[in-house]
Amino acid sequence: GSVMEKVLQRRSLQMRNTQRSWQESPEGRKMMDFRKSLPAFKEKERLLQAIARNQVIVISGETGCGKTTQLPQYILESEIESGRGAFCSIICTQPRRISAMSVADRVSAEKGEPLGESVGYKVRLEGVKGKNTHLLFCTSGILLRRLLSDRNLDGITHVFVDEIHERGMNEDFLLIVLKDLLTRRRDLRLILMSATLNAELFSNYFGGAPKIHIPGFTYPVREHFLEDVLEITGYKLSSFNQIDDYGQDKMWKTQKQLAPRKKKNQITTLVEDALNQSSFENYSARTRESLACWIPDCMGFNLIEAVLCHICRKERSGAVLVFMTGWEDISCLRDQLKAHPLLGDPNRVLLLTCHGSMATSEQKLIFDKPHPNIRKIVLATNMAEASITINDIVFVIDCGKAKETTYDALNNTPCLLPSWISQASARQRRGRAGRVQPGECYHLYPNCVYEAFAEYQLPELLRTPLNSLCLQIKSLEVGSIGEFLSAALQPPEPLAVQNAIEFLKMIGALDERENLTNLGKYLSMLPVDPKLGKMLIMGALFHCFDPILTVVSGLSSRDPFLLPQDKKDLAGTAKSRFSAKDYSDHMALVRAYEGWKDAEREGSAYEYCWRNFLSAQTLQAIHSLRKQFSYILRDAGIVDADAGSNNRLSHNQSLVRAIICSGLYPGIASVVHRETSMSFKTMDDGQVLLYANSVNARYQTIPYPWLVFGEKVKVNTVFIRDSTGVSDSILILLGGAISCGLQAGHLKMLGGYIDFFMDPSLAECYLKLKEELDKLLEK
Ligand code: ADP
Ligand code: MG
Repeated sequence: GSVMEKVLQRRSLQMRNTQRSWQESPEGRKMMDFRKSLPAFKEKERLLQAIARNQVIVISGETGCGKTTQLPQYILESEIESGRGAFCSIICTQPRRISAMSVADRVSAEKGEPLGESVGYKVRLEGVKGKNTHLLFCTSGILLRRLLSDRNLDGITHVFVDEIHERGMNEDFLLIVLKDLLTRRRDLRLILMSATLNAELFSNYFGGAPKIHIPGFTYPVREHFLEDVLEITGYKLSSFNQIDDYGQDKMWKTQKQLAPRKKKNQITTLVEDALNQSSFENYSARTRESLACWIPDCMGFNLIEAVLCHICRKERSGAVLVFMTGWEDISCLRDQLKAHPLLGDPNRVLLLTCHGSMATSEQKLIFDKPHPNIRKIVLATNMAEASITINDIVFVIDCGKAKETTYDALNNTPCLLPSWISQASARQRRGRAGRVQPGECYHLYPNCVYEAFAEYQLPELLRTPLNSLCLQIKSLEVGSIGEFLSAALQPPEPLAVQNAIEFLKMIGALDERENLTNLGKYLSMLPVDPKLGKMLIMGALFHCFDPILTVVSGLSSRDPFLLPQDKKDLAGTAKSRFSAKDYSDHMALVRAYEGWKDAEREGSAYEYCWRNFLSAQTLQAIHSLRKQFSYILRDAGIVDADAGSNNRLSHNQSLVRAIICSGLYPGIASVVHRETSMSFKTMDDGQVLLYANSVNARYQTIPYPWLVFGEKVKVNTVFIRDSTGVSDSILILLGGAISCGLQAGHLKMLGGYIDFFMDPSLAECYLKLKEELDKLLEK
């Protein structure tokens, strides 16, 4: 004990010396000057005192005031200054990996150190931290995972939970766990940070914890709604003759294909009526809602271009921030703008993007100030709404939408849709324009639509399936899931909880009494959706690990198959070349990935991706996920060290197909053939359509009675994304039976029918599998 104490004391003194010499150096002074100019600095002493005196405090302050980069740093600095630096250990969570990384990078620069010294980060698949790291930025998911094995957070002195106003599921979950932990760890400090003023809610949750507001200053921002935007740009309603110029996002595009031609007039009328508020109110609420969703989408791309031209030609200098729904829209708009004579001229415009999966090098560019004659334009997702602050923004263009998952507990269907943002988000987006001087905000929707927005966004806990969450609750050993969740800030519906529990029972992660099974324990270690986790374990036990590893990694990252707007056909053809008539997007993914690995070995990966419309970045992410999953399964003893025997049957296509089915069940649709067309029906008899880039969408007929799919997406109609054709026998055997714990009787009965079962080596494997799976399922 006392030896350790001495070591830490010595290190604390070193830390103090390092800190002082940095603060006295010229660059260090310059940095301090900047930091002192932030609004948070004025509150520094008050904040430190409040944190010292209270176990929990809630801090609110406008985005950019210095919460994330400064507050954890104030604590670290004051501990270092008092000679206790090495004794303190601070964790600060972020909802998104990209902000954890970029903030850690920034804070270590402010401390004049390389990343991984006293400041580090940890996110899924990546992390930089050293033995001297005392301030760690991580995603909220990472902290939750750590709590599974380190229930008391031993050694941690301060926990910051940032961006709580977003009400992300992990944050709400963390608060329940931390609230309980605080009663056991009286010395632990919890600091909640929020960008909006709804601190009351959080303060009450923690028994009236003190609230501190950091007053910020922003310049006024002039707001223009669609009616003004049309006038300013001279963009004619009658000129939007192409309905499908916005929403290049894959799902939106499919929706556009559905748009009956006559709808165009209807939309034109609607927009006109919307601009004239009184006639808009004559529509029924439902019509209003369904038609209003077309407003920015039917004009968006060209309208955004028109607004950008207006700003570049007529307005004073200052950077522009454009809020869009997703990475695909962003990259399409970027391509369109690159071809524009003014906006695409690199001598006049610096065009940048900001989204969740950009590279770190790309990230830094958005903070740079370009040459005064060059206009910086940043196309961003709602990530730039609160977690990332770009200082020189003067103009904001807001399409009014964000992609958000919603969950329909009644139908047990998750939906991922671009939907209207809340009024709070719209205000937040507008505020981004007033950081350095008075700004302008262009909303691409009419004022009456804004009035109809919800005040705040629904917390994520109330709009997502709870499968993963419930599994994690179980592995925390905190008792009943229902009881635990009822302690949430806003508890989810009992039906949603029940659905999740039923699901976990069905896949064998929970037993009848809701206790975690062995399989459940393994699944809780895998940072993927439990059903994909199960697919992985099945792949290993069935000796076809490699291809399944690729499928699962692919399903848990973005789609690597790109679909550029102007080359849809070529891209579709390129993708179908990987499908080799096996009627499977999942197999196409496996082949594309394997081809990429080969090409990499030959040094032609770049060319390969280009030729096949593949995203190298996504393939790289899939590659890292594969590595991570196999480490975990190797540690758990499910995969052999060299994975040799786990791959004995990897070449067997029908086996791989069967395992895909076992993982994706009950995501299943029946194929209904008609004279010239096909339609698809899900278990609940709902009609679904295939997503346009699916290899199965290219066939007239499919020689399988069923398609299994991973994701159902509801737009106007329900679409299924990646799908794989499966036979009756596979479905009977792997769809239900194995999920419920194989029963020997069933197997004997079905044995004769199973196509892949005919192969004697497979029969042997199958019986062995049953044994192993039973072992797994045993407590
Ligand atoms: P908050 O968490 O309150 O939104 P931050 O602590 O993230 O604010 O940022 C405070 C200020 O630090 C921002 O206004 C910005 O000026 C500056 N800043 C943050 N990150 C960077 C960066 N990577 N590069 C340059 N400046 C940055
Ligand atoms: Mg912040």
